[in-house]
Amino acid sequence: MVQDPRTKYYNNDYPKQYQDPPGVQKYMDPQPDCGEESYKGTGQLEGRKALITGGDSGIGRAAAIAYAREGADVAINYLPVEEPDAQEVKELIEKEGRKAVLLPGDLRDESVTRELVQSAVRELGGLDLLAMVAGKQQAVEDIADLTTEQIVSTFETNVFSMYWMTQEAIPHMPAGSTIITTTSVEGYDPSPMLLDYGATKSAIIGFTKALSKQIASKGIRVNSVAPGPFWSALQISGGQPQENIPKFGKETPAVPLERAGQPVELSGIYVFLASEQSSYVTGHVYSATGGLNAN
Ligand code: NAD
Ligand code: MG
Repeated sequence: MVQDPRTKYYNNDYPKQYQDPPGVQKYMDPQPDCGEESYKGTGQLEGRKALITGGDSGIGRAAAIAYAREGADVAINYLPVEEPDAQEVKELIEKEGRKAVLLPGDLRDESVTRELVQSAVRELGGLDLLAMVAGKQQAVEDIADLTTEQIVSTFETNVFSMYWMTQEAIPHMPAGSTIITTTSVEGYDPSPMLLDYGATKSAIIGFTKALSKQIASKGIRVNSVAPGPFWSALQISGGQPQENIPKFGKETPAVPLERAGQPVELSGIYVFLASEQSSYVTGHVYSATGGLNAN
C-alpha cells in the first residue's frame, strides 16, 4: 500500500507549549510518534546489547523501541528529570521480552559518562551497539546573548561526551559492533539562531568520519544520522522560539514534504546502521530531512 508522505503523519499546526529543557515528552501535545504502536521487528538485532543515550524520548526512544523489537537488550541513558519518560520506555522494552536497563546521568560530567558505559557493560553482559542520540539545542537569536555557559554546555553534551563514551566502550566491543552518532541537517546548513548547536553537529560529522577510519581495523563500523526537523521535546524546550512551533516543519522551516518528521520515521535508519544489512557501510551520514537540504 502506498501512502502520501505529506499526510502519513501529523501535519496540522502544533499548539505552542514551553517546557524547561530537557522537557518531558509525556507532557507534550501532540505526543511524538516513536513507533510505540507501529514499529514491527523482524529479528535483525537478535541477541545484540545496545546502549542508547537520550533513549527516554524522541529519536532515541524510537531507536530503543525498534532495537528491542528487533531482538536486542537495551540500556538507556537520560537526565534524572526525564524519569517518567524513561519508565515508559522500560515498559515498552520489557513487553518485548527484552532486558531494559535504566541509567540516568548527566553526560556533561566525564566520570558519570564513563561510569554509565561500564554499568551498561555490566548489566547487559557486554556491549556491541552504541547509539549516541542525546543532544542539547537552545536557540539564541543574537550572538551577543550567547553565554559562555551555554556554549560549553552544548559542546559538553553533544560532542565531548562522545569522546568519553567511545573511549570507554571500544575496549568492550567485539568485531561486528556498530556505533551510531546523531548529527543534524544543522551540521551542514546551520540556522542563524544555532551558532553553538550547529557547530557541535558539524563536529560530530568530523568525529564520526575520523573514528570510522581509526577503528575499521577492529571491525567496528561508525555512522551518523542527520535528521531534519522532527517533533520532539528538544524543539519545544527552547530548541525553537515558541513562535516557530505552530508552523514547525511547514513554514519554520519550510520543508518540501510540508510537515515535521516523527521520530518513528528514523527507526529504520538506526536499525539499518546497527544491523548486518549495513555491513559494508562505515563513515557515512544518512539524512532524513523531508527534502530540506538533504545530503
Ligand atoms: P529529545 O529531547 O527527545 O532527546 C534529546 C535527549 O538528550 C533528551 O531526552 C535527554 O535525555 C538527552 N540529553 C540532553 N542533555 C543531556 C545531558 N546533559 N545528559 C544526558 N542526556 C542529555 O529530542 P530529539 O529531537 O529526539 O533529539 C535527539 C537527537 O536528535 C539530538 O542529538 C538532536 O540534536 C538530534 N536532532 C534532532 C532534530 C529534531 O528536529 N528534533 C533534528 C536534528 C537532530
Ligand atoms: Mg527526553
